[in-house]
Amino acid sequence: MLSYRHAYHAGNHADVLKHCVWLCCLEYLQRKETGLRIIDTHSGAGLYSLTAEREKNREFDTGIGKIYNQPNLPEPLAHYLASVRESNRKTLALYPGSPLLTSHRLRPQDELWLHELHGADHALLRKNLQGKKRVYVKCEDGFAGLRALVPPPTRRALVLIDPSYEIKSDYQKVAEALTQASRRFASGCYLLWYPVVDRARIDTLEKQLRQSGIGGIQLFELGVRPDSPGHGMTASGMIVVNPPWTLWSQMEETLPWLAAELGENGQGYYRQETISE
Ligand code: SAM
Repeated sequence: MLSYRHAYHAGNHADVLKHCVWLCCLEYLQRKETGLRIIDTHSGAGLYSLTAEREKNREFDTGIGKIYNQPNLPEPLAHYLASVRESNRKTLALYPGSPLLTSHRLRPQDELWLHELHGADHALLRKNLQGKKRVYVKCEDGFAGLRALVPPPTRRALVLIDPSYEIKSDYQKVAEALTQASRRFASGCYLLWYPVVDRARIDTLEKQLRQSGIGGIQLFELGVRPDSPGHGMTASGMIVVNPPWTLWSQMEETLPWLAAELGENGQGYYRQETISE
């Protein structure tokens, strides 16, 4: 039984990194006319209120809340913030998750496949995406969904693997899912999000990916304070297989800025690494 609800975390520092990297990849892949199959294996509810009573732990204050009104942003962040603004009026009241951010940018030749297993969030996701064409909302396991959806007929795919890691076996499952999907469809662009709660788990994940034989893997991590086992999420990262060639320099511009702005008491840091060539 799943208890994680993304509503409590929407817009936090991890979402800022995740959605900024995601939109950079989407924008690049849409420069080509050919249709894209976009797969979101763990979709959440799609749209979150930042003012509702139960969201009052205000995790968004660690992320979007700190940068929403900032001028002179690095270009990838300006692009991301423009996307968040599409769901808001003047003030920040709603946070669009990956399904909404993506569906706003869907072209007639693209399709979007969403997977959400939590019953209540699945119902919200359906409601939030209602009436959108070529958007398929599934109440199914996203790992199985991914296996069934690659390779796509157009031979172009963008995939987001974004579990909550509430079930610890997810750390193992994401490595297997990425390896299997890459074997079935090597040229897909795959994005995997990870939290740093226990550094040893991420070291293992990186090692598994280094040994997987998958080529073209880059890692982008943003930390708000040093590793501190047992004291919640201190950082998060995006692992990207077959990244657009533009992503590296976009993140060189963005990550230092984010580390300075979102770091707690000057303790922010980032990592930008090539995992495999
Ligand atoms: N991708 C979303 C975004 O960026 O806005 C956030 C997703 S949230 C981190 C993870 C979601 O995955 C939760 O809503 C959880 O209920 C759902 N989930 C957990 N296990 C799943 C599975 N095996 N298949 C599909 N959804 C799952």
